[in-house]
Parts: sequence; C-alpha cells; structure tokens
Amino acid sequence: MSAGAGGAAARELDAARARVREAGGEALLARLEHLDAARAEPSRPAAAPRPPDRGAAADFDVVVAGGGLSLLLAPMLASAGLRVAVLDRARIGAAHREWNAGTAEVAALEASGIFAPGEVERLVVARYVEGLCRWHGGGTYPVRGVLDHAIDAGGLLAAARARAEALGVTLLDGHALLGHAEGPDAVALAVAEARPGAAPRGLSARLLVDARGAASPYATADLVCPTVGGVLAGLAEGGGARRIRPDVGEILATTEDVEEGRQHLWEAFPGRPGETTVYLFYYARSGDVGPGALLSLYARFFRLLSRYKEGDARLVRPTFGLIPGWSRLSPAPRAPGRRVRLVGDAAARHSPLTFCGFGANVRELATTAADLARAAADPRAPSAARDAPVHSGTGALAALMARPAGGARAGEMNALLNTAFAVLHAMGDDAYAALLRDEMQPADFIRFLRETAARRPEVYREVVSALPLRAIGRWGAGLARELYRAR
Ligand SMILES: Cc1cc2nc3c(=O)[nH]c(=O)nc-3n(C[C@H](O)[C@H](O)[C@H](O)COP(=O)(O)OP(=O)(O)OC[C@H]3O[C@@H](n4cnc5c(N)ncnc54)[C@H](O)[C@@H]3O)c2cc1C
Repeated sequence: MSAGAGGAAARELDAARARVREAGGEALLARLEHLDAARAEPSRPAAAPRPPDRGAAADFDVVVAGGGLSLLLAPMLASAGLRVAVLDRARIGAAHREWNAGTAEVAALEASGIFAPGEVERLVVARYVEGLCRWHGGGTYPVRGVLDHAIDAGGLLAAARARAEALGVTLLDGHALLGHAEGPDAVALAVAEARPGAAPRGLSARLLVDARGAASPYATADLVCPTVGGVLAGLAEGGGARRIRPDVGEILATTEDVEEGRQHLWEAFPGRPGETTVYLFYYARSGDVGPGALLSLYARFFRLLSRYKEGDARLVRPTFGLIPGWSRLSPAPRAPGRRVRLVGDAAARHSPLTFCGFGANVRELATTAADLARAAADPRAPSAARDAPVHSGTGALAALMARPAGGARAGEMNALLNTAFAVLHAMGDDAYAALLRDEMQPADFIRFLRETAARRPEVYREVVSALPLRAIGRWGAGLARELYRAR
C-alpha cells in the first residue's frame, strides 16, 4: 500500500472511531476497541488463583461471568433458590446489540417467568409481514415467519437486571474474570475491576458459568462472524431495493461480489418508527480475523452504506460484536473442568449459518437454567441440551462462505447463494423458514442440497476447492447420522 493510500485508510479508521464515539460514547468505543484488541493473541486466562481445598464453602452456588444475553439465566437460577452472582467487565445488562427473533423466541421469553405479564409484548418494537433475502446479480426471495419481531434489547436486559436484583442476585458491574481454579467442591475465581492496575480479588462458587462470549478463553469455535452497524435514523422509506419498508425485515442481502477476500452481507430490520437496525458482516474462519477487524468493518460500513440504502443516515446507537460459530466439522468448544459450564456464544451451539445466538439461547433458556441448577448441585450431572440436527448440515455451508474465491471467480458466491435461495423458495415457505429457524429436517436438507447441485453443478468443484477432504467426510458422516436418527 502506498503512503498516500495508507494515510487515507488511517483517516477513514479515525473517522469511523469518531462516529462510534459520537453516537455511543467513550465507554462503548472502549468496548469495541477491547474486542478488537483481544484478537491480537489467542485468549488465555490472565491469572490463576489457588484451587479451593476439599470441603471449602463457596461464596455463591453459581457465578455467571458475562452479563450480556446470559444475564437472563440469573433470575431463573435465583428463582430456583440458588445464591447467584453476575459479573461483567462492563455494565451488566447493557449489551451493544439489537435483536430480531420469531414467535417461538417471544413465547420462550414469556414462559421464562422473568418478565411481568404484558412486558414482553411491550418489548416488541416492530413486527413484519415478511422477510427477504436478496442477492447481487440475482433475485429476491421472500419468506414468512422468520426473525419477524424486533425486540428492544436494552429494555429486555434492563428488565432482566431489575428482576435479578429483586431476587437478591449479586451484580458486579465493571468486574472482569481473569482466571479460575477448580477444587473438588468449589471453583475459585480471580476477579478484578476492569481498570488499569486494579488488584485481583477472590470469589468462589460451586459452579462457574462462562458467558463471556467471543472473549472467553474457551470460545474455540472454528468460525466467527464480525458484525457492525447499529440503529440508524434517516434512511429513505418506500418501494425498491434501496429503500426501507417498515413492515419488511431484510434478513440477508449482498450489494457486490467478493471484495478484499470476503463476501460481505447486509441486513436491515426496521424498529421504532423512523429507525432501522442495519448490519454489515462477513463469515470468516476464526484464525483469519485479526486485531482491528471490527473498526475496519465499520469504516467499510460508513463508506458503502449508500450502496445498500438511500437516505440521509444518522447513527443513533452503534451495535457490534464478534459472534463465534461452530461448523460441526471440528471439535466443539469445551469447558475446562466439571465445575465450569460454557453458555451462549462461548459454547457456540447456535446455527453456524444464521448466527442467531439470541434466538437459539432464548429457545433453550429453560433447559439451560435447569442444566445449570443440576450442575451446581452435582457437577457430574449430564446436560440435557440437544444440538439441532440441521446444524450438522449447515456448518459446512458456513465454512464454505468463510473462504470465498476471489479474482475471476469473485461472483461465484453470489451465484451459489442465488441458486440455493431460489431452491429454498421453490421448496415452499415451510421448508425455507424451517432452515432459517434451525428446524429443517435432515431429509429436507439433503433434498435442498441435491436440488441446488442439480441447478448448479459447479458447486461440487466449489466445495472440493474450499473444504479439506476430511471436512467433507465429516460433513457427510454428520448428515448420515442425523438421517439415521430421524428414521
Ligand atoms: C451486532 C449483533 C447483532 C445481533 N443480532 C442478533 C439477532 O437479531 N438475533 C439473534 O438471534 N442473535 C443476534 N446476535 C447474536 C447474539 O447477540 C449473541 O448470540 C448473544 O448476545 C450471545 O450471548 P452471550 O451471553 O453468550 O454473550 P454476550 O451477549 O456477547 O455477552 C458477553 C458479555 O461478557 C462480558 N465479558 C467479556 N469478557 C469478560 C470478562 N473477562 N469478565 C467479565 N465479563 C466479560 C462482555 O462485556 C459482555 O457483556 C447478534 C450479535 C451481534 C454482535
């Protein structure tokens, strides 16, 4: 890169930083920069306390490290009579996210017992008649019954926090978990206030729940989805691909072929009147995403937003993150001991294709809370969580998206996506929506693959050139296993 081009790139990063700071404040920018910096080296525990002796009493039954979405577990565990603490290196329940979900997730929130009657309904800020996926150089494919509710994420977490407080949960804002050591009856935690030079202090629990998302040292999933954007005001409303329709969610859309080695995707979910949450993201292998990935994606977001949507856009609230994804072609993220459980993004059990961690975790909320309550009493208790069968099929597609071909073949990814979504659309709304909701049955998934390959035979070459043979073998074996189970 020439000095001139390097200077322009640095200025663009500075401008992106300034826009995030202006809309979100210094603390939010610091969260972005912390996430970006953490990619510099593989995460590992920063301090290890002495393990508790046999018979040692624990301060808490459960400590939840990470007060993002997994904060929802705290009031549920406290309601079950457990002594619970939550700690977060930032403010607990202040996630830099907006969430879209379907009817099943709204029902799971209502059934969780966390919210007052009517409260979940009030947290739904928009509903859509349909969603759509649209491919550059290809078609637009509508679908119903998927991600068709916009949830007020800030309001949801504030309500969960208030409920946790009312149930006596100890909340440690601004406290980072640095490390832990497991003893026979408890786990010791090294915790420090998240400010330079703060001295670690000790805490202990019968069970540590690692809910630190992508920042957990045990979040070893092989894929990651860097995502940036936020709530925007001022986008033009109306018909046509470059305007927003307040009653339609844009689930996936591309505006160009592979650039800079990535197939970038957009999504746009209208929220409160006049506001739309817009994201830009790409699929990547975890090891390919280095420091500064989010800030440089923000620079691209601001530079190219007008390619996606018209209007005089103003960033109202920045939202961003690194969402881990597990392809099911490599070993799953594993907790380092019996008294530690991984939940949420750290465990990465959501779809590796849609990365809908909010939906997946909320649907499993009751199962997860019951699992954790059992594990606090007996760390050998097996987990009742089940992996959705379709994930053994979609993981390989996500791995394919993570290494798209560039150069003369830069249009292949859009062509493949266009064929795949044309097939899904032709299979009918039930099948199309089922894939995006993680509910597609293995036999339908195989029919989907067969029909896509029949319309686009190049897919065989694309799969073989993007995935090692061993991964292709695991993919086939995983699908065969799920087909057998479904008989
Ligand atoms: C921009 C964006 C939009 C999304 N939109 C959707 C959507 O519409 N629908 C959907 O289904 N999913 C969505 N997701 C995915 C969803 O947000 C995640 O799957 C979900 O938040 C995971 O919850 P979690 O509790 O595991 O982690 P998080 O919610 O990420 O929380 C992790 C917490 O851990 C804290 N932490 C990190 N390190 C430490 C430490 N050392 N000590 C203490 N605390 C620590 C962080 O400060 C953070 O608060 C989106 C994700 C992003 C990034």
